[in-house]
Amino acid sequence: MTDDDTPGSDPDDGDPPRDGPGSPPEGGRPDTTPTVTCARCDNTWVLDYELDELRVGNRALERFALDHRRHTGHLPDGVTPWLVDCKQCPDEDAFLSAEPARRWARTHARHTRHEVQVVSPEGDPELVDRE
Ligand SMILES: [Zn+2]
Ligand SMILES: [Zn+2]
Repeated sequence: MTDDDTPGSDPDDGDPPRDGPGSPPEGGRPDTTPTVTCARCDNTWVLDYELDELRVGNRALERFALDHRRHTGHLPDGVTPWLVDCKQCPDEDAFLSAEPARRWARTHARHTRHEVQVVSPEGDPELVDRE
C-alpha cells in the first residue's frame, strides 16, 4: 500500500544524484578528500575534481588555490602559498612551501632567462634570475 506516491512530473525535484550511479566504489581514494572554503565567495569546495580528474594528488590544494586566484583574483581561506610569477611570460605557479617555489623559479629562469618573482606567504617578493 502506497500512500505517498505522487507521480513524478518535476525533473528538478529533490536531490540530484551525484555523478555515477550506485554507491561509490570501495577501496578508492581515502575518505579524507580535502575541502576548501572561501569567505569572499561564501562557498566551500571539495577537491575531488582536482584529485580525480586532474590527478594532482597532494598538490590538489595548490592547484585549487592557483585556479581560484586565476579566476577570482584572490586566494581561498587558509591558503597561503608561495606564488611564482614570471615577469616576462604568462607562466606562474603556486606552492605550499618555499623550496619547490624557488626551485621552479630557478629552473624557469635557467631555461628561459626570464626573471621570476617569488612571493612568500607574507607577501615579500623576491626576484630570481639566471645565475
Ligand atoms: Zn573566493
Ligand atoms: Zn617566463
